[in-house]
Amino acid sequence: MISTDSHSRAYHTVVFTDLDGTLLNHDDYSYKAAMPAIDELRANGTPLILVSSKTRAEMAQLCAELVITDPYVCENGSLIVMPEAWVKSFGIATDSFTFSDGAWQFVQGAKRPQILTLLAELKRHYDFTGFADMSVANVVDCTGLSEAAAAQAMQRLATEPLLWHDKESALIEFAQQLSKHNLRVVKGGRFYHVMAHCDKSDAVRYLLNTYESHYGAKVKSIALGDSPNDLVMLKEVDQAVVMPHKDGTYMHDDELLNEIRAPQEGARGWRAGVEAALQALRNGEEA
Ligand SMILES: [Mg+2]
Repeated sequence: MISTDSHSRAYHTVVFTDLDGTLLNHDDYSYKAAMPAIDELRANGTPLILVSSKTRAEMAQLCAELVITDPYVCENGSLIVMPEAWVKSFGIATDSFTFSDGAWQFVQGAKRPQILTLLAELKRHYDFTGFADMSVANVVDCTGLSEAAAAQAMQRLATEPLLWHDKESALIEFAQQLSKHNLRVVKGGRFYHVMAHCDKSDAVRYLLNTYESHYGAKVKSIALGDSPNDLVMLKEVDQAVVMPHKDGTYMHDDELLNEIRAPQEGARGWRAGVEAALQALRNGEEA
């Protein structure tokens, strides 16, 4: 819960992380090599908040496997899920949330049926394939997920992933069409995601504020990510960790200051990145 530096000043830390290509290996989706760092965060009572374009169904299972009881953020920031016990212990008012399967949730932005109606129209002008156009077998083919995992990935509430087959220039026009309807397209690891104008940073800010009012003190925050849809989240925190892509290159943004570059992709690099970020926060306290 509390990290203490050599001058005995104490602070709370919260860690936010993307999943695909960040906590999970790009090729086999394994998180195994990250477990020592995850166990250490848990032992210290440091919340680990998963923030992904994945669905609630996918993320609930992952949280169960990792024994994470903190909130998590699904569908690129469109959906925040808060376990009932967490909401109770934080004394949060639930008026604007809905309850299902043992957790409170709220959707920011557009609901998926609204997105699909517009995409059906745009399909006449642009060449793309969305999850709504795919069978479970198709999703298995283009993601390498198991059938069960693909079915979970298809249970979406507020975003639509798509594969873009058209020219890059057509993508700009497509985005302009979406913006007329208050929607936008965001590049993820494998897919483009059509969604409303909410993003990972809205969810990160909401949760940071919630932790700070609960602790009654500022928290130190860390976020890890690899893709453009992670940038807004990385800019919200005290210490950003950028993960390398599969080819060894790193996303770059001039506004991202003092980021740590993880030495390797996937779970092994994640562990090293978290450890380096925790150390950087400690060094900052001592400075
Ligand atoms: Mg990613």
